[in-house]
Amino acid sequence: MANVLLDVKNLSVHYKILSGWVYAVDGVNFKLEKGHTMGLVGESGCGKTTTGYGITQLLASNAFIKEGSKVIFDGRDFVEMSTVPDKKLKGYRRIIEYHPEMRKYRWSRISMIFQGAMNAFNPVYKVGDQIIEAILTHEDITEEEARKRVEELYKLVGIPVDRIDNYPHEYSGGMKQRAMIAMALALKPDLIIADEPTTALDVVTQDRILGEMANLQKKEKVAMILITHDVSVVAEMADEIAVMYAGHLVETGTTRQVFKETAHPYMEALLSAFPNIKGEKKRLKAIPGSPPDLSNPPKGCRFAPRCPYAKDICLEEEPPVVEVAPGHFAKCHFAEELYGELGGERNE
Ligand code: SF4
Repeated sequence: MANVLLDVKNLSVHYKILSGWVYAVDGVNFKLEKGHTMGLVGESGCGKTTTGYGITQLLASNAFIKEGSKVIFDGRDFVEMSTVPDKKLKGYRRIIEYHPEMRKYRWSRISMIFQGAMNAFNPVYKVGDQIIEAILTHEDITEEEARKRVEELYKLVGIPVDRIDNYPHEYSGGMKQRAMIAMALALKPDLIIADEPTTALDVVTQDRILGEMANLQKKEKVAMILITHDVSVVAEMADEIAVMYAGHLVETGTTRQVFKETAHPYMEALLSAFPNIKGEKKRLKAIPGSPPDLSNPPKGCRFAPRCPYAKDICLEEEPPVVEVAPGHFAKCHFAEELYGELGGERNE
């Protein structure tokens, strides 16, 4: 990867709770190139959002980053920059709140489209004023210039400019989502982390907004991490895919590799649970069981209790990450054997 913008190495984020720890994200590794889109997919509660917040270091006060984690953005390691070793919890680092350098990166170089844009805006301030405020916080320009930029952004995302002075409750769900995208683009960031950006919308609006996001992203050459549980969304938009299960990345590769040459049983199960409008009609298969309790994850492979290919070793030993093809990785004891065998029917 020649143009790496973000290099996440061994990222582990654990939450301290009264009864112990929740191992939400454990040893996550991936790279993202400038201008590329990576889809981060998995079931609810698998650690996707914590990974996104771990990158921007916008974590809850009971979240701790394990020593050895690195989040290198454009050459700077955010973990080294904005966390310190915790005095009581050995092996963990805690985030320095309001770290001045980290604040320079947030929003101006990395912006977020938060889950549930419906509630992301402050209901007592006009939407346009909230975007103007974000611009003025980071750039030394006049209010008039900031307002002009918001007008341009509104045109770009397809909101009538005369709606700038409306309050959030005067916007429809789709308009709030577009306004959130406008806010994410306001400072021309290098990376947007979009957390379930269209989940609350009907499918027609979802399709239109995703299409617009893809166009804007290509036009502005912004990299994007698209967090979603919907594999069909990433199939359309992502260059690369990272599949997450119970705090681990279980499969990573290009979109084609992960969809067409699936190497991990969990990805196969996810694909079998989604309809394919192009292939023959088939009954969808639900994934049996439920994800493990991350405060007490299973000893071996975390997918073992639900995996049809599990063998004894899967219950005892954590699987290694295996490179099954150049740039295509799967965390499975039998990745090499299963590579090319999984999802055969669907892949034809
Ligand atoms: Fe299934 Fe074993 Fe592979 Fe885990 S390691 S995904 S249980 S085959």
